[in-house]
Amino acid sequence: MLIDTYGRIATDLRVSLTDRCNLRCTYCMPEEGLQWLPKPELLTDDEIVRMVSIAVTELGVTEVRFTGGEPLLRPGLVGIVERCAALEPRPRLSLTTNGIGLARTAEALRAAGLDRVNVSLDTLNPEVFRTLTRRDRHHDVIAGLTAAHDAGLTPVKVNTVLLRGVNDGEAADLLDWALRHAYELRFIEQMPLDAQHGWQRENMVTAAEIIERLAARFALTPEPSAVRGSAPAERWLVDGGPARVGVIASVTRPFCRACDRTRLTADGQVRDCLFAREETDLRAVLRSGAPDREIADCWRTAMRGKKPGSGLDDPSFLQPQRPMSAIGG
Ligand code: SAM
Ligand code: SF4
Repeated sequence: MLIDTYGRIATDLRVSLTDRCNLRCTYCMPEEGLQWLPKPELLTDDEIVRMVSIAVTELGVTEVRFTGGEPLLRPGLVGIVERCAALEPRPRLSLTTNGIGLARTAEALRAAGLDRVNVSLDTLNPEVFRTLTRRDRHHDVIAGLTAAHDAGLTPVKVNTVLLRGVNDGEAADLLDWALRHAYELRFIEQMPLDAQHGWQRENMVTAAEIIERLAARFALTPEPSAVRGSAPAERWLVDGGPARVGVIASVTRPFCRACDRTRLTADGQVRDCLFAREETDLRAVLRSGAPDREIADCWRTAMRGKKPGSGLDDPSFLQPQRPMSAIGG
């Protein structure tokens, strides 16, 4: 098991497949992009499958989510999913994506064994989308969402970050739209993980504000906290249910005490937290020819040092060196 000194057990692995992306969301990446990781430093498809296999067979991981950067840019994605779906015990497999290209790949991903997708979409307005992501691809995301739903990658979840003065007026419209399409909408509070270090707490649209905006149009009933478990989203039944809406209040209502995450970056570094400033180089261990058991031991040691919380409220908080796109959100 991956257990830390506070007794938390990590069963949910986030694997970043690439640090590259075809969008430039203002809260994530600078307009000009970033210095991408050199190819030799990236784990190969075989190495990724081996790491996932060790996590699943030796370390008790039951959920694997592929992310990035934009994971659909990884050419070997379908093959990676297929090989991970063949592992015993079979992990649940999901993908977090900006949806561009999903219209083409949803069926193949489903056939390979992908269970679910989370698609990020912050606005219903193509113009606002262009301002927010610096690319004119709104249509592709909508097409990707439809394809994911049709392929049975359900429940399709939609991740939305609200930015003050940009798309924060759309909260209720987004929920209305999600309900009509049977997507489960989850708002994520903006976190200090942008490459430009431009995050300011005062500008962040808080969970409380989001709920207030939604409550103006919908009747929201909190789901009992027992149902939340280690899930980061607090959820509300909408108009009596069964439809739900979630808010991931990483900043104002952190869920660190129940965290069950472990992370692997595209270059093979284990991170015990999104906000961690230290990483463990598992790629070096892997490439030294170490057997599975030794790699698993290193992973266990890496996770033992996990801090009790993100430290966001600590005056000495320092943003991690890697931005969100290179960590794997
Ligand atoms: N490119 C894919 C996507 O956008 O879904 C996967 C990677 S992206 C880093 C994963 C999630 O992190 C997205 O839902 C995105 O909106 C969210 N995200 C990125 N930067 C963020 C930030 N500074 N605060 C909160 N969420 C952020
Ligand atoms: Fe790309 Fe996702 Fe970051 Fe947007 S949030 S720039 S889609 S990695």
